[in-house]
Amino acid sequence: MPSRPSRYAIVSDSEFRHPSGRVVRPVLHAATARVFLADPQLAGRLAGEPPAGLGGLAERDKPAGPVAGNEVSPEADSQDSVLRAAGLLVDEDADESAAIIAASRAAARDVRTRAFVVMPSAYCNMGCGYCGQRHERITVGGTHREAIAARFDRAARSGRYDALTVRWFGGEPLMAFAVLRDLSERFIASAADAGVRYAAKVVTNGALLDARKLHALHRARVSTMEITLDGPAQVHDVSRPLKGGGGSFDRITAVVAAALRDPGLDGLQFVVRTNVGVHNAGLAETFSAALAEAGLAHDRVHCYPAPVHSWGNDVTDVALARREMAATEMAWLRAYRRHGLRSALLPAAPIDVVCVAATRHSEVVAPDGQLFSCTEQPLVPSAAGSGLGGIAELGVADLRPAGAFDDWYDTVEAGQTPCRSCAILPLCGGACPKLWREDRPPCPPMRDNVRERLDLYALDAGYTRV
Ligand code: SF4
Ligand code: SF4
Repeated sequence: MPSRPSRYAIVSDSEFRHPSGRVVRPVLHAATARVFLADPQLAGRLAGEPPAGLGGLAERDKPAGPVAGNEVSPEADSQDSVLRAAGLLVDEDADESAAIIAASRAAARDVRTRAFVVMPSAYCNMGCGYCGQRHERITVGGTHREAIAARFDRAARSGRYDALTVRWFGGEPLMAFAVLRDLSERFIASAADAGVRYAAKVVTNGALLDARKLHALHRARVSTMEITLDGPAQVHDVSRPLKGGGGSFDRITAVVAAALRDPGLDGLQFVVRTNVGVHNAGLAETFSAALAEAGLAHDRVHCYPAPVHSWGNDVTDVALARREMAATEMAWLRAYRRHGLRSALLPAAPIDVVCVAATRHSEVVAPDGQLFSCTEQPLVPSAAGSGLGGIAELGVADLRPAGAFDDWYDTVEAGQTPCRSCAILPLCGGACPKLWREDRPPCPPMRDNVRERLDLYALDAGYTRV
């Protein structure tokens, strides 16, 4: 069968030289998330450029490390088999996007991890201008707590899953810390009795964190704390104001820095997300300097910039245009590196299921006990009526009722979005079914800057631009 380059082979436009003299062009195979540093001629072939000879291929492990890799320099007659084995060459008539969509559909159906997103509180102690949620002083009550614990326990004992995960979300989840602790104890006991793995993550504004809570969360098997910081103190404290007044940047960074020095919190990972919009787009340098100064340039702290998100509300006044966001994101990724902050340039693996809303093996539990399929529906006035019923009324062994985005892979397959023909579909998955349905294309900046990310990857690996 004649072969052709994979539609998921993404080739940098630039050449780089290793200190040894070797010249390469980075190539990303989006279907496997593998990066190769290919001889320019080979890269040109994968990019569909006119032939100029044959060369070698060296795979790089992510994240970038010392220049080594599994280098091969295939002879002409074996080059195709090497490229085929890497997935960079495929049969001429291969329908690669159909295979990716079919694999995602199967993953959504067959996933062996049951995911719960639990919102213990509908209240938030911050009043960020771009937030689309309405916050009320509602906490998960006793009946609903029993129902959540019972569903978790049944799922753990079902034999259907290898692992159960919980994402604590809000509102601000730490506003209902007692609920979080109580449910965590029950989840951990259920998972241990059933012999399945358990992991939890907290998505928090961080303002209520202190050492005592971090130790409690660590004991509650929380492995990752995702905290939002919107800029250096003077910007963060305005962009994410506390309803009670005062700022939080200095306090949050001090608590995280102390946690990194605390042997009792070993292993606890921190993710620092920055919601980037017109208010802070140009602050990559000062923000990175402030984080490094605070002691957060550390292997257990990973940073990423995210475009200001629409919950269905109009964020056009605060969000950046798509291409501007792509360029801004690169500026942030470069600034992180200049200050020793850790951040991923490229996904470590292809995405299997785009998000919790695309599989019935996930569910979102709102503070009033309503079930949802999507995390951005509860507490959002524009999504009123999207609840799937009360958790206490649902059979304890039943999956959540059908949600609006369970047919996501039919949508992609039918070409109702451009995802089917997109070169980064395996890494993106379509980003956000809800935003596509609202006619707000959610394409991440990576769609526009993937080649620049590859270039930065080569620079990280010690190459210099030719
Ligand atoms: S959401 Fe955009 S970037 Fe993601 S797969 Fe679809 S078209 Fe590509
Ligand atoms: S549909 Fe969009 S907003 Fe909803 S869970 Fe998925 S990614 Fe999040």
